[in-house]
Amino acid sequence: MRIGVIGAGAAGLAAAFDFARAGHGVTVYEAAPFAGGQASTIEVGGGRLELGYHHLFTNDSAILGLMTELGIDGSMRWIPSTVGIYTDGKVYRWSTPLDLLRFGAISLRDRIRFGLLAKRLERMKDWRSLEGVPAAQWIRDNAGSSVYEKVWEPLLRGKFGDRFESIGMPWFWSKIQTRFASRDRLGREKLGYPVNSFDEVFETLVEQIQAKGGQVHLNTPVTRVLVEDGAANGLRVKRPDGSEADEPFDLVLSTTPSFAFPELVDLPDAYVEKLNAVEYMGAVVMILEMTHPLTSVYWMNIADHEVPFLGLIEHTNLMPPEMYGGSHVLYLTNYLERHDDLYLMSEDDLLEVYLPYLARFNPSFDRSWIKRVHHNRVSAAQPVIGTNYSERIPEHQTPVRNLFLANTTQIYPEDRGTNYSVRMGREVAAMMLRGDDE
Ligand SMILES: Cc1cc2nc3c(=O)[nH]c(=O)nc-3n(C[C@H](O)[C@H](O)[C@H](O)COP(=O)(O)OP(=O)(O)OC[C@H]3O[C@@H](n4cnc5c(N)ncnc54)[C@H](O)[C@@H]3O)c2cc1C
Repeated sequence: MRIGVIGAGAAGLAAAFDFARAGHGVTVYEAAPFAGGQASTIEVGGGRLELGYHHLFTNDSAILGLMTELGIDGSMRWIPSTVGIYTDGKVYRWSTPLDLLRFGAISLRDRIRFGLLAKRLERMKDWRSLEGVPAAQWIRDNAGSSVYEKVWEPLLRGKFGDRFESIGMPWFWSKIQTRFASRDRLGREKLGYPVNSFDEVFETLVEQIQAKGGQVHLNTPVTRVLVEDGAANGLRVKRPDGSEADEPFDLVLSTTPSFAFPELVDLPDAYVEKLNAVEYMGAVVMILEMTHPLTSVYWMNIADHEVPFLGLIEHTNLMPPEMYGGSHVLYLTNYLERHDDLYLMSEDDLLEVYLPYLARFNPSFDRSWIKRVHHNRVSAAQPVIGTNYSERIPEHQTPVRNLFLANTTQIYPEDRGTNYSVRMGREVAAMMLRGDDE
């Protein structure tokens, strides 16, 4: 069969790998000049670095399994993580159960209650009973108002803006599950990173798809899914030279965000309503290449409304600066509505907003430490996972025959991530090859 795939991110490439392995003629079209989608990389000091900070957890079995199949599992490094939280104008360590016991922002009674609650969620395997409950309400009711106000309310609000009260409890449950799964018996967390960056995963996928006769066209957006008698039968693409071409396919898989999909194909109203029912938060990520480290922590949660960003991720506290020509790499991240002023702001203006706050994390910080800045906007960074979400997920098999959709809004109850896009891409590829309609 001839199979067309829209998008060379984790989902599209994982699916294309399986199509090619099964002996089908697969062609992947990617609008960007590079593969990797949201996990793509740039060059920093001679090394590759993700435009948005990325790591893996020990239970990310789909992507780790794929890396084994690709013969690059030896690239994985597992590193003890260092986590902090900034609340009440102070940085607290937040890596181990002992750190939680020392977490002076809340009373000792609340710390114990908090720890027991996290354990309870870890043991809870039936997330379905939580489907109708908003996470904010559940945390307030079960952890108490102090823990909620000092920790979770600012973090939920930071991630989901004004929509934070609507987030369903399974989303929070899955976050706790993942973080516990990556801990040892003493509660120490390990995080994984491919030593040659996530780029190695995507580059190897592209190589192996091509080696099996498939094609991957970068810089080649799909502008239309061609449909005849209710069935997809091809793709219209814009080639890098600006010309358009219609390519015939027997099956089509789209990995575009939900809001972009109806622009490519006419779909029945009921399906479009489902696509539109799930909103996305955008993300703005600023990378600072610096001469000095800012902190000694890899992942700093900011639970403080005054600070204009949600997290500081100091990548070179996970991987050594030597990988980036000696630069210390700091990500400043924010999840925002796509119409938010900070989302739309220019790199220079955003930097001026952020810089005054860096001294809170290191009083010696000086802007002369900054060697280079990168600024990246991600429009479909995080689907807003509301209550009773399972009823709202659009089907992979669209109402147009032979046309399938696999995007991050269809990942549930786990939070979106490269692992789950790989898993979904491969599951949908198998479904397409079996001829299932779900
Ligand atoms: C800031 C940030 C941090 C993250 N951190 C982590 C992390 O630590 N660990 C982790 O596992 N995950 C992380 N993620 C999530 C992870 O990157 C994504 O969930 C995953 O990469 C999504 O892959 P995908 O293939 O589903 O979608 P995408 O990566 O969005 O791929 C879709 C592709 O389709 C292309 N496309 C769209 N329209 C067209 C068109 N018309 N024609 C051709 N191509 C088109 C896009 O250019 C894109 O390349 C993070 C995400 C963000 C934003």
